[in-house]
Amino acid sequence: MLRTANIIGSGPNGLAAAITLAQRGVAVTVYERNQQIGGACSTAEVTLPGFRHDLGASVYPLGVCSPFFRSLPLEKHGLRWIEPDAPLAHPFDDGTALTLEHSLDATAAQLEPRDARNWRALFASTVRDWPGIVESVMHPLLGLPKHPAAMASFGPAALLPAQMLARTVFRSESARALFAGCAAHSVLPLTRLSSSAAGVVFVAAAHTTGWPIAAGGAQSLTDALAGHLDSLGGRILLDTEITNLHQIDPADATFFDTSVSALERIAGSALSPSFRTRLQHFPSGPGIFKLDWALREPIPWRAPACRRTATVHLGGSLAEIALSERNAFYGQPCDKPFVLLVQPSLFDPTRAPAGQHTAWAYCHVPNGSNLDLTDVIERQVERFAPGFRDIVLARRASNSSALEAWNPNLAGGDISGGAMTLSGLLTRPTARLYRTSNPKIYLCSSSTPPCGGVHGMCGHLAARAAFSDSL
Ligand SMILES: Cc1cc2nc3c(=O)[nH]c(=O)nc-3n(C[C@H](O)[C@H](O)[C@H](O)COP(=O)(O)OP(=O)(O)OC[C@H]3O[C@@H](n4cnc5c(N)ncnc54)[C@H](O)[C@@H]3O)c2cc1C
Repeated sequence: MLRTANIIGSGPNGLAAAITLAQRGVAVTVYERNQQIGGACSTAEVTLPGFRHDLGASVYPLGVCSPFFRSLPLEKHGLRWIEPDAPLAHPFDDGTALTLEHSLDATAAQLEPRDARNWRALFASTVRDWPGIVESVMHPLLGLPKHPAAMASFGPAALLPAQMLARTVFRSESARALFAGCAAHSVLPLTRLSSSAAGVVFVAAAHTTGWPIAAGGAQSLTDALAGHLDSLGGRILLDTEITNLHQIDPADATFFDTSVSALERIAGSALSPSFRTRLQHFPSGPGIFKLDWALREPIPWRAPACRRTATVHLGGSLAEIALSERNAFYGQPCDKPFVLLVQPSLFDPTRAPAGQHTAWAYCHVPNGSNLDLTDVIERQVERFAPGFRDIVLARRASNSSALEAWNPNLAGGDISGGAMTLSGLLTRPTARLYRTSNPKIYLCSSSTPPCGGVHGMCGHLAARAAFSDSL
């Protein structure tokens, strides 16, 4: 019987585990080392007064369709999704851009006729079967999918290396690049099996449930989760770093919203030696280098379409994106990295003083890299928005060490909680998934299925695993 539970970490997955437990009457206490809840889903003024920056996540294609988030009254606790005019822009050197539009047809209409036909053919069944696919991919992939028929339409393309899929299906460099930028969210070399999965999921999300931001920033999503937890009687203790299990009151179950290495270190001898060894072998993914900017005015994009979206992919061609992702994965530097940029204040005026703006951008880097890529990233922005540097009022750069010092889940700068290779997704972080060698200890962070991202499903499913164990 589960009556009491401790949760270490107040990221979206820690809060999701806490809510799922509290919904069934468990007395939960969440311990958070920082003075602010939310982990990589939080917001703060880190450049100039009045400029509110999302410290981690900003755009929620997985959050808005998350079966768990959708089951909660988050709007009652202040969450409001804002859907930009279009989900994504991908500019090119000739001053043009392709956009992912909400409509499959409107996206295809920008492509040459053969690519347009193939865009529809590649994504139509995933778009049609989206609710079943979401249910399936938001659960562990080991075992029979929840909706086998829907997964049969999604699986074959998702399993392919993204570079091969893009080259086979599309003739134009621009269509190939648009898909490659979405696939790069896999944080894998685009030659790897399953590197297409993120691309297919993100394109289908754009054509269905969307890529919204949260009004007021990531913190309003986290605060809505915490508000709901509070209404269920859960409590959160800030400024409380857990370094060993003796620090916390004994409970029927303890959930780690932490990295795999922190679970291994903190739980220590409460786990079996062989399980600890398996945890030590769970591979990390690449890190990131992130810049936050306070801006005097909107980014001066050469392609006007880039002003219609919160998310902009700065990667140029498929070949450039593939090289950038390959280098980050295999530990090599890259002087023209694929840059993911978010400009939320174009659609949410609460992020900056009137008329001014915030934006952030990151690129993938080798895990643990502490090179300063400020100039490299800003050159990529200038490439598509000449004059960008002139509008920067202030900037903050975060390398892997800075990110990890703020939130130790971002080990070596890895924002996905471990490599998202096929094996890393199937047995995340071991074949026990949320369970450990100790029946009272569970892992509930993005190092468990389904994967990284703000959707709360890792925490929700870890809590459900604990309930089923307690029957
Ligand atoms: C820069 C960046 C951009 C991103 N962009 C997006 C995006 O746009 N969309 C998206 O969906 N996802 C994005 N992500 C990924 C997403 O933010 C994460 O996958 C998600 O936040 C993971 O949630 P979590 O609860 O597993 O862990 P986290 O959000 O990392 O939270 C873990 C919490 O646990 C706390 N903690 C850790 N160890 C201890 C300890 N020993 N004691 C007490 N507390 C502890 C940490 O302080 C932290 O608050 C981004 C991440 C980053 C860093």
